[in-house]
Amino acid sequence: MKKHNFSAGPCILPESVLKKASEAVINFNNDDLSLIEISHRSQPFVDVIEKARALALEHLNLQDKGYTALFLQGGASSQFLMTAYNFLDKKAAYLNTGTWSSKAIEEAKLFGDLVEVASSKDKNFNYIPKEFTIPTDVDYFHCTSNNTIYGTQMKSFPESEVPMICDMSSDIFSRQLDFSKFDLIYAGAQKNMGPAGATLVVIKNDFLDKICRVVPSMLNYKMHADKDSMYNTPPVFSVYVSMLTLEWLKELGGINFIEELNQKKADLLYTEIDRNPLFRGLVNKEDRSNMNATFVLENEQLQERFNTMWLDARINGLEGHRSVGGYRASMYNALPLYSVQALVDVMKELERKA
Ligand SMILES: *Cc1c(COP(=O)(O)O)cnc(C)c1O
Repeated sequence: MKKHNFSAGPCILPESVLKKASEAVINFNNDDLSLIEISHRSQPFVDVIEKARALALEHLNLQDKGYTALFLQGGASSQFLMTAYNFLDKKAAYLNTGTWSSKAIEEAKLFGDLVEVASSKDKNFNYIPKEFTIPTDVDYFHCTSNNTIYGTQMKSFPESEVPMICDMSSDIFSRQLDFSKFDLIYAGAQKNMGPAGATLVVIKNDFLDKICRVVPSMLNYKMHADKDSMYNTPPVFSVYVSMLTLEWLKELGGINFIEELNQKKADLLYTEIDRNPLFRGLVNKEDRSNMNATFVLENEQLQERFNTMWLDARINGLEGHRSVGGYRASMYNALPLYSVQALVDVMKELERKA
């Protein structure tokens, strides 16, 4: 039986998706060829990427609303510089909620002036700043919807006239939002969608007209959009598996269904973290992420025992990020409720034995 996989990324994918993906590597569409050895311009693959792009927009309720979905390479990290390269003419506003936001800020500084509207660095990023003003004279506002490392999540987004760009790498397709508030959304595939290698970019078509300088082709959103995400060879395997995951999500009932399940999983774990005297959550309760729960043991001396216990329970990937320590349970879309129950059972057992 498969282990309970709480890995933060790359991370768990649905078993049915992994099975179909492995079959396609050997024999895709019963055509006696592998998915990864056919031309990316052949009709079978064009159908795959078109379906993946359409499903992404459909899940976000952005189909027929003037948006384009692209599957690019270079990870979410390349989006830190690509967003600024294309859209930072003079000045941009950033909300700093953790490591990923900080990296986005550093990259953007290469292209123009930055206004950090607020930062939670003063408390090791354990909360989401709420009181801040976005200047009206900036080219865009950039934020990170879910802070994978610290375990905080933005529950609401500011109202502003300036275009909004959001790094949704670790919570895309996990909850319902008004996605039409965003001009550009990006997300690395390896947190909630597929294998590393592809990055989903969803961009408002009007926003493409605001590209502010000459940008080399590979980093130019308009070039990729004009070429239907096929300017060069796309990461075919990652795109295919992403398509399978988006189909899986649609069959389940889409974001509405998965959001409810994700809420149940998060409630189950946070309730135990709060109840069990041996554990303590690391972030502000109202800002807790439903995707990545961070917590520590009150008594560090129990660490070895707890580690042995969860490993024996066939739990994987519970170590906290090196910059935070403690534990982090990542509960992405494909993680079943029974895996969270398995972790909670271990926490209760530790309490009995301690
Ligand atoms: C993982 C992650 C990234 C970095 O993604 P790469 O694909 O490794 O570049 C950026 N932002 C967030 C929110 C992430 O979780």
